[in-house]
Amino acid sequence: MIIECNHCESKVDGIEKGEVYDNDPDYPFPCKRVLVQCPVCKSALLGITEKIQVGHDDWEWDNLHRLWPPQDASIDREIPEIAGVSLVEARLCFKAKAYSACAVMCGRTIEGLCMHHKTKNKTLAGGLKELKEAEIIDTRLFEWGEALRKHRNIGAHASSEKISKEDAKDLLDFSSAICEYVFVLNAKFNRFIERSTKK
Ligand SMILES: [Zn+2]
Repeated sequence: MIIECNHCESKVDGIEKGEVYDNDPDYPFPCKRVLVQCPVCKSALLGITEKIQVGHDDWEWDNLHRLWPPQDASIDREIPEIAGVSLVEARLCFKAKAYSACAVMCGRTIEGLCMHHKTKNKTLAGGLKELKEAEIIDTRLFEWGEALRKHRNIGAHASSEKISKEDAKDLLDFSSAICEYVFVLNAKFNRFIERSTKK
C-alpha cells in the first residue's frame, strides 16, 4: 500500500504486516489502520485508510495517510491559520527540494505570526522588534527570527546565492520552534496558570 516514508522522504509501496479494522457505526466508510514496512529503508510505518469509490460499483482502499511517525503536514491546532498555512507550505517546499521557496515560506510564517499579534510596523524586521519589545518572544527567538528574515531575503530575490538543504532545514526547524513557543507553549502555560489560580 502506498505510504509516505519519512526516512526516505518519498512515497513507497509499503509491505503489509498487519491491519485492524475500525468499527465506528457512525462512520459511513470502511476504515482500517495498517502497519507496513518500508521496502527501501525497512522502517515501520503506521497508516490509516478508508475505502473510496473508484467506479460505479467499485471500491478501493485509498493510499495510506501516515499516523506514525506523524505526517509533517499536520501542525498543532493552537497555531493560527495565518501562520500555519505558510508553515505547512514551507514543509511541502522542503520535501519537494525547493529550498529557496522553503526559506520564503518560513519568512511568511513569521510574517503571519507578526500579523496575528497585530504589529504596527509593516516590515518583518520592525515586526520582530515589536514582538521582542512586547516580550512575546525572547532574545534568542528574536535572533532566530532575524536569521530567518535575512535568509528569506536571499530566497525571495534573484541572486547567485543559494539556500542549501541544511540551511532550509534549519530555517524550517526555527519557524516550527517559534510557532510552537509563541502559540502552543504559551497557550499551555496560560491554561496552567489558570488552573493554579483556581485552586
Ligand atoms: Zn523508507
